[in-house]
Amino acid sequence: MRAAAAAATDIGLIREGNEDSYLVMDPLFAVADGMGGHRGGEVASQLALETIEDLFRSGEGDLAEQVREANRVVYERSIRDRRVAGMGTTLTAVLVEGNRARVAHIGDSRAYLLRAGELRLLTEDHTLVHRMLMEGEITEEEAEVHPHRSVLTRALGVDASVDVDEDAIDLRVGDRLLLCTDGLTAMITGERIRELLAGARGPQDAADRLVRAANAAGGVDNTTVVVVEVVAGADDPSTTPDETTHADGPSRSPERAWRSGRAVEPARRRPAFLTRKALTWVGVVAAAVILGLVGLRVYVDRQWYVGVADGHVAIYRGIPAELAGFRLNHVVVETTIPAHTAQSLPLYRHLSEGITVEDQMGAVALVEQIRLDVEPVQQNATGS
Ligand code: MN
Repeated sequence: MRAAAAAATDIGLIREGNEDSYLVMDPLFAVADGMGGHRGGEVASQLALETIEDLFRSGEGDLAEQVREANRVVYERSIRDRRVAGMGTTLTAVLVEGNRARVAHIGDSRAYLLRAGELRLLTEDHTLVHRMLMEGEITEEEAEVHPHRSVLTRALGVDASVDVDEDAIDLRVGDRLLLCTDGLTAMITGERIRELLAGARGPQDAADRLVRAANAAGGVDNTTVVVVEVVAGADDPSTTPDETTHADGPSRSPERAWRSGRAVEPARRRPAFLTRKALTWVGVVAAAVILGLVGLRVYVDRQWYVGVADGHVAIYRGIPAELAGFRLNHVVVETTIPAHTAQSLPLYRHLSEGITVEDQMGAVALVEQIRLDVEPVQQNATGS
């Protein structure tokens, strides 16, 4: 099999520049959505893809290694050149190797697979909102309209090193792969994407239709898509493909299996020296203790604060304290903002002790404020 691919990108209706980039270099395909003031975003997304392209041409490393190297290159440029300090980019790349596709991913651009009319998301958004969704803090519906849904928890080029999500899938003739920046997914639903991708005559038609649909829905961001169609190659074993004809239908993720808890233990025999009355009192005291703990738990779960985790600004649920050795908090989101930079500002000097906020929205808003306040400090630090 071989790949037939096409791309489309558009500035949208509101933005003043297009900070997205894409790469179509069969068998390597990618999209990148840059961020950072002035020309930073554009530089970041282009530089990341150029680096990956160069490394791929010279055959250095595998896809994930190339992405990590691109991270280093973008990060070092942002340190050297104050005009692009603090820049970063998302990156979603696919490498087609025979009947396999490797996926490497950072950020909130996405890769989808359309097979037999069904659309499957291959990547996970590295966003605050996705994290909150996974934690059960917000619902799917809330996530879709969340004001901070583009706040990233991971991006290429903002730190000296980065975790790359890696995946590999089997391909079949007729599959369509879609790589897209969030300008598409913020504007139209997965169902609409599925319709347009499935209904298009070919990759270019699909790419054009998707970008047009994003603009028709408001076009609030740059939109970039790459569509890759898997077609039969000259060297394929004629028209009777092997396992691809199995009528196993569209792939579904396996049902989640729930294992029941451990077997119920037989009731213990009551110690003989406890009278019925003593037992009643034990029961009352135990109930009071349990109620107290449940009450504490409910209270703690409603509290939010912003603190430090692993050297980064982080959002916590709970209270910044321990009780008899038990932590009363957990990290909900670790951002990419370096804590020491935030703590160099008088306002956030006591960040490591935790800054309590009203609720999760308050936490998100405070993180955004810290991000804004920290930006000039980072630029001063790196620009000298
Ligand atoms: Mn975007």
